[in-house]
Amino acid sequence: MKNIVLFGPPGAGKGTQAILLKDKYNLVHISTGDVFRYNIRNKTELGKLAKSYMDNGDLVPDNVTIDMLKAEVEKNNNVSGFIFDGFPRTESQAVELDTFLTEKDDSISGMVALEVPENLLVNRILLRGETSGRTDDQDEVKIRNRFKEYNEKTAVLQKYYEKQNKFYGVDGVGSIEDITKRLQQVFDKL
Ligand code: ADP
Repeated sequence: MKNIVLFGPPGAGKGTQAILLKDKYNLVHISTGDVFRYNIRNKTELGKLAKSYMDNGDLVPDNVTIDMLKAEVEKNNNVSGFIFDGFPRTESQAVELDTFLTEKDDSISGMVALEVPENLLVNRILLRGETSGRTDDQDEVKIRNRFKEYNEKTAVLQKYYEKQNKFYGVDGVGSIEDITKRLQQVFDKL
């Protein structure tokens, strides 16, 4: 299986690229942010729990997120692989993901990171907030907090996958099509 962790700071374009790439490679796209937002819209217990964290730009607690991710994976049998978008976001999520996949005789093929300077991202997210309806995209204080969470808890995952020789950085600045092409060059190798 091709199991790819699509990585990058908030607003890097993971969701946009994942949607394009999942069709090209016949992979299942799991976006933890999208699953949380779906649960919030439908007012499920999970949604109620996640909402307060997401509204502030904080990460949702690991145990909640990990259980949800596993349930999403289990919904898909006999597939050729996954694009994980927004997961893992902490080292313990990464460890749990490895354990979970090993139990299935499977593994992560690679982490592919979209690299975009932070100063470009805040404006991109504010622009997205004008149309996305996402409250966490509309307030600069919340956006800054998401970067703080990213820098404190998520950025370390680069090292985690580098140690396993599974890290691939891709320049995330340019047109959507150009970035898709760059990502494809890496996906083809994995
Ligand atoms: P972004 O555009 O910031 O990458 P996402 O749509 O991936 O946004 O996620 C939005 C929010 O959902 C995060 O700020 C966080 O509160 C929550 N979330 C998503 N994935 C995770 C995760 N793996 N662990 C904890 N919280 C998460």
